[in-house]
Amino acid sequence: MFDERVVARSKTGLPTVLSMPVCSRRAFLAGTVTSMRAFSHPFRTQGQTTRTRLILLGTGGGPRPRKASSASAQVIIRNNTAYVIDCGNGVARQLVFANVPLPTLRHIFLTHQHSDHNADYGNLIWLAWTTGLRTPVDAWGPPPLAKMTRLFFEMNAYDINTRVADEGRVPLVPLVRVHELREGGLLMRDDQMTITATVVDHPPVVPAFAYRFDAADRSIVISGDTARSDKLVKLAQGADLLVHSAVYSPAVDRLVARVPNAPALKRSIIAGQTSAEDAGRVAQAAGVKTLVLSHLIPADDPEVTEQMWIEAARMHFGGSVIVGKDLLEV
Ligand SMILES: [Zn+2]
Repeated sequence: MFDERVVARSKTGLPTVLSMPVCSRRAFLAGTVTSMRAFSHPFRTQGQTTRTRLILLGTGGGPRPRKASSASAQVIIRNNTAYVIDCGNGVARQLVFANVPLPTLRHIFLTHQHSDHNADYGNLIWLAWTTGLRTPVDAWGPPPLAKMTRLFFEMNAYDINTRVADEGRVPLVPLVRVHELREGGLLMRDDQMTITATVVDHPPVVPAFAYRFDAADRSIVISGDTARSDKLVKLAQGADLLVHSAVYSPAVDRLVARVPNAPALKRSIIAGQTSAEDAGRVAQAAGVKTLVLSHLIPADDPEVTEQMWIEAARMHFGGSVIVGKDLLEV
């Protein structure tokens, strides 16, 4: 049985991923998508086309748990297929609050390997499976995504094996296909969605990605974390929605004063993030219709109002500006 092989392998200490498929992008584009359609899906209705939805699941920047907002995550839904971008802490529960059935999870995209974007990556897949997921999930993101996935399943093999044996669930691990990304470009195209990526600038985390989702009715770009990026401007050209991470610069000093164990945090924020004003510049240069500010830094400073975020972004952007809130659909 597959899960027994996972346990056996952990005893030998072999660092390879033998049972969890790691797909090349080329192989995926060559036809894996088609073969996956053979899986029946109890939560999807064949042939039914609906509007492409975007729900912001977590809009706060940084891994520190907060009352006001969850860590980074968003979901795009098309025809009852869920594309989750980033997996900050609590993403599975946020999907439940958003009334997105967890078994509709089909793709996960990690923008980069920071804990406010990946803390619940494995948990999302695992908990979706306990909720009824029995169809493939493709996971996309930078290295070491394959190792993280393998070790997560190894760490939780006891529960997974128990539920397979005791509850008759389909083995979880073979459902997950990992695509480690080292460069941007076309990731996948099917009759629902075309998905492309570009490398953005989030030092010292390399690589970090922004993703673009083109459906028939709308185009959505998720910046991930990035300093002001010309590559993002190119990726987002003409998009309907750009979800951009944003810093309210005048409040950064107050924020770092509240975090006692990270003396270089201010430098890190300045080097690796984009101010709300510059997010507006990026949106203007890309010609997007609507800019959504998210991954807000600071996330919970009562002195920074929604109006202040909007005014900062509108300094250089003539389109619509939305300040992200958890569970907001845009
Ligand atoms: Zn980051």
